[in-house]
Amino acid sequence: MTLNVDVAANLRAVRSSLPEDVKLVAVSKFHPAEYIEAAYAAGQRVFGESHEQELAKKQEALPKDIEWHFIGHLQTNKVKYIAPYISMVDAVDSMKLLKEINKQAAKHDRVINVLLELHIAEEATKYGFTLDACREMLEAGEWRELRNVKLCGLMMMASNVDDEAQIKSEFDTAATFFDEVKARYFADDDSFCERSWGMSGDYGIAVKCRSTMVRVGTAIFGERVY
Ligand SMILES: *Cc1c(COP(=O)(O)O)cnc(C)c1O
Repeated sequence: MTLNVDVAANLRAVRSSLPEDVKLVAVSKFHPAEYIEAAYAAGQRVFGESHEQELAKKQEALPKDIEWHFIGHLQTNKVKYIAPYISMVDAVDSMKLLKEINKQAAKHDRVINVLLELHIAEEATKYGFTLDACREMLEAGEWRELRNVKLCGLMMMASNVDDEAQIKSEFDTAATFFDEVKARYFADDDSFCERSWGMSGDYGIAVKCRSTMVRVGTAIFGERVY
């Protein structure tokens, strides 16, 4: 299969525009396995998917040293399918989901890395904790009992708008909130270090706003065909 995008060149371009210590999750959702293989051949090992069945097929078929991130909204009844192999669940948006990931991870004697998803953008459809809901959840402390999940940081998506000032202000809000919860709950926990914001359209702004992990799809693999 000949790909109509130069995945390796795109990947190089994105990589070279990122500071060295910013992690790159290559978002491969809706792209066939050949696109992932091209990125893999160019050295990429971390990929993001957002549908359980699509991910299951790709995980089965592709090299086992790929680190898969589940980046979309994850339904609790799907957790059991990805628990054996998922490397990180990027968008935990409820205590219920966090507990289910913990439970399924325990069955496989694993510790699954997770990020808490914040809802800061204006769009009403976006998932995630409001800042207050996130504070409440952390304050309640039940998460401390969960031995099979590791809270590695925060994730969010900015509003899908052209106004760069608005995007920047949303990323800044997330970065300030990270500092707040890091100081209050994770000061002694080096694992809580990730600030995952930035996609194809806004990762340049995101890294200026202290992102440590960008999730980039279109800029690497081209437009998705749904
Ligand atoms: C699809 C998706 C991305 C990648 O979006 P692009 O604009 O293609 O870079 C990043 N994060 C999440 C949560 C997504 O669902």
